[in-house]
Amino acid sequence: MPQSDTTTPDATNAHAVSVMLPTPVVGPYDYLVPDDLDIADGDYVQIPLGKREMVGVVWGPAMGDVDAVKLRPIAHRIDAPPMPEEIRRFVDWVAAYTLSTSGAVLRMAMRSPDALMPPKPVVVLQRGEIIETLRMTPARERVLAFLQDGPALPAGDLARETGVSTGVIKGLVEAGALEKLEVPPPPPFAAPDLARPGPKLSDAQSTAAQTLREKILANAFSVTLVDGVTGSGKTEVYFEAVATALTEGRQVLVLLPEIALTPQWLRRFEERFGVPPAVWHSDLSQVQRRVTWRAVATGNARIVVGARSALFLPFGELGLIIIDEEHEPAFKQEDGVSYHGRDMAIVRAQIAEAPVVLASATPSLETRVNVIRDRFQSLPLPERFGGAVMPTITTVDMRVADLSANRFVSDELVKALTETIAAGEQAMLFLNRRGYAPLTLCRTCGHRIECPSCAAWLTEHRFRKRLQCHHCGYEVPSPSVCPSCENVDTLVACGPGVERIQEEMVGLLPEARIGIMTSDTMRGPESAQKFIRSVEDGDLDILIGTQMVAKGHHFPNLTLVGIVDADLGLAGGDLRAAERTYQILQQVSGRAGRAERPGRVLIQTFQPEHPVMAALVSGNEARFFELETEARQSGGWPPFGRLAAIIVSSRDARVADDLSRALARCAPNTPEIRVLGPAPAPLSLLRGQHRRRLLLKASRDIAVQPVLRAWLAQIKVPSNARVRVDVDPYSFL
Ligand code: ADP
Ligand code: ZN
Repeated sequence: MPQSDTTTPDATNAHAVSVMLPTPVVGPYDYLVPDDLDIADGDYVQIPLGKREMVGVVWGPAMGDVDAVKLRPIAHRIDAPPMPEEIRRFVDWVAAYTLSTSGAVLRMAMRSPDALMPPKPVVVLQRGEIIETLRMTPARERVLAFLQDGPALPAGDLARETGVSTGVIKGLVEAGALEKLEVPPPPPFAAPDLARPGPKLSDAQSTAAQTLREKILANAFSVTLVDGVTGSGKTEVYFEAVATALTEGRQVLVLLPEIALTPQWLRRFEERFGVPPAVWHSDLSQVQRRVTWRAVATGNARIVVGARSALFLPFGELGLIIIDEEHEPAFKQEDGVSYHGRDMAIVRAQIAEAPVVLASATPSLETRVNVIRDRFQSLPLPERFGGAVMPTITTVDMRVADLSANRFVSDELVKALTETIAAGEQAMLFLNRRGYAPLTLCRTCGHRIECPSCAAWLTEHRFRKRLQCHHCGYEVPSPSVCPSCENVDTLVACGPGVERIQEEMVGLLPEARIGIMTSDTMRGPESAQKFIRSVEDGDLDILIGTQMVAKGHHFPNLTLVGIVDADLGLAGGDLRAAERTYQILQQVSGRAGRAERPGRVLIQTFQPEHPVMAALVSGNEARFFELETEARQSGGWPPFGRLAAIIVSSRDARVADDLSRALARCAPNTPEIRVLGPAPAPLSLLRGQHRRRLLLKASRDIAVQPVLRAWLAQIKVPSNARVRVDVDPYSFL
């Protein structure tokens, strides 16, 4: 049967739009807009895709690459606040910069598809008609009297408020004396109390806070670094900026490296603003995710504190982004779309025309260079708050400490621990390695126990009696027989992890109360919070931990920090190894002596003359960064040059080799662009994938994205291989 003219889409005047889908496929795709639909850019729409239906976002005018007669119509518009233009621009920007598809980035911005549906209404009860024949009891009377001028409430709340059983309420409903009514649920987040006074700021703090306030009132993009030593009160200072932005009616985003691990931060926020902030991180439940996402979109959530993924929340009134611990590598996302949270936050703020505040005690070299170039303003806080002094730092030369094979803590450090505990103070031992030992070796045949799917040793976790791969999570029970020569009891643990340090301490200081803090022992925010409380309450003398203990904590009675192996991060060819080691050691050192009692730090190292150790001991950080900066500049490394890594992977080693060589053969090669490699990645086997790396190095004035695109377009990637691009790589594994 021929269709009538009014229903057949007409190629010339049919109205079509492009719709972006939250999938990695290249988009957007054009769809027809049915006459009865009112559609604007940013609207969430349900569209047919193959045999399925999917939710996408109206991205703009039709691309026009497909004949309008072939287009399918949008099924319907979803009743949700549209995606703000700022976010759509941000999605496109991040996609272009990271060489991802906009769909892959959009997926990060639509992490909670359920949130698009209006939340379920709540059923409340109000007074119904007056029923003459109603048998009255004192309980029934109380309920009806309450509702005479009280608010309509859900049945449970009403029962509680009036002190009656739910049976009474039910009886009234059945009799018709109470009536059900559906109302929207209450907004999930209470407004921060802006009238609460903050603490009285020191002179240095209030100067910094005043500058931040001015930046916010200027309503323009800017980047300001709060460069304050550990304990200088950076948090208190940027809380003032938060208060100003909230007072101005703007939304605020605070990015933290690992939000779930900082219950102290949340408590401080609540003390300052009277309510908890909205939080966003990977451990949220589906329900929390839905509620929070929607509250950001509707504007109910005024302040969000989150991990890097919070950048993709649908803020419509963003007026300030704070990036605490801006130097943290945890801001770099490696899987999926690889992006750097700090750098993309700056882009997001630029789009929103909003200020950014970076906070750090050990700013990254990139940020320092931006300060030197006058792109960022720096606000120094050179002293600890309240007269606390910086700890004294000394090295322990492990070449002369001459420890037996099963000892890792020097006599000098043990002595310091004993003194600290005797004085009623607390100590922290830092070793950035989880588990008991990083390697299990057979004394007889020399066999090293490796992960079957990674080029890595298995780490022994003695508490759990298991060997685990820290790259893929593979686990086996600790064997008692060598898997290679089958001898019994010949396997020995080599090297220390935190569990082994704990064992050593228990042996040497049996009276001491010792606790361990790593991501293995702290499952989730509650256990971390409990542990932190126990340190604060003085239930522990020695706290042993990985980098988890290095971050943000404030333990007033902690006066000694011992670094078990300061050289650990210096090995390997990582561009930022020295900088990273300096930062983490400085950060851990900063846990010592944060209140009245002065702190000291002992650094165990086999290379006390290394520039990192020398800088820590002398406190001459400026000189250290000057030298690092010079080295980066003369080598043309970031931020003086640009890098992009290409990682080729395949289950088949030959395929990985062939593909990476093919890429090398057609690599761009100009005076400004060089390609290094291919070389087997340091982790040449990961999760069963053989990996090869190439590194593109270009001068600063080159935009690497078009170069990369043109290069990669020449190669056909076989279906059993993958090519991943990492622009501005931070990991070289
Ligand atoms: P940072 O982030 O620079 O390491 P914090 O913001 O954690 O420093 O401050 C260190 C400690 O000093 C915290 O306990 C904080 O509450 C306290 N503090 C900082 N500034 C003030 C102030 N103006 N008034 C009262 N306490 C302050
Ligand atoms: Zn593995």
